[in-house]
Parts: sequence; structure tokens; C-alpha cells
Amino acid sequence: MKENEIGKEISKETIEKCKKKLLNKKEMINANIQSMKHEDTTNTGLIDYEANFVNILALVNHGNSNLLRIDNALIRIEKGNYGHCFDCGNSIDEGLLENIPEITICRSCASDRQKKEKRK
Ligand SMILES: [Zn+2]
Repeated sequence: MKENEIGKEISKETIEKCKKKLLNKKEMINANIQSMKHEDTTNTGLIDYEANFVNILALVNHGNSNLLRIDNALIRIEKGNYGHCFDCGNSIDEGLLENIPEITICRSCASDRQKKEKRK
């Protein structure tokens, strides 16, 4: 019995595993952001401070965009449409989901996008 790839549902076990991973990642990012914000910059000069500030801002923004992707993945799990490719709608490989639970596109669409990026 071969299921239609498009209609194939992600198994509950995989979704559970991914959910746990997403929650862990979220916690780690939040902890990182907190520790960065609490970094002591009082003893550094103004120039250092500004340089640090820019670095911290970049890191925090980076963390925030990761958080956003993680939150979106968690929302998709709640809605029950988790694991489907944004581009083609096919279900994403479960092994890939377990490795990168916040992923939004399947392997073939990801490589398509990469090819398009290179052409620019
Ligand atoms: Zn796809």
C-alpha cells in the first residue's frame, strides 16, 4: 500500500519529538538572549560599548528570527498542518524534520531555492 506523498501525514511520534526539540531550542535561545542583555558593558569605553551594542543587537535579532520560526512551527503543530512544505505542499521528510524541526520547506524545494539564489 503506497500512500500519496502529498496526502501523507507526519506521524504523531515525529511531531511529538519535533515539538520537544522546538521547545528546548526556544528555551536555549531565550537563555542566550538574557545572558547577552545582562553582559556587563559598564567598564568598557564608549567606542567598545557601541561596538558591543551593535554585536548584541545583531545576535538578539538573529535569535529573534530563530524564535519566530520556532514559534511558527509550534503554531503549525497546534493547527495540525505541521510538516508540509510551504512551496509545494508535500510532506517534509520526517528525518529532516527531526533534525531541523523549524524547517518550512522540503528538501527538493530547498535546493530549488538555492539554485535560484545562485542565479541572481
Ligand atoms: Zn516542497
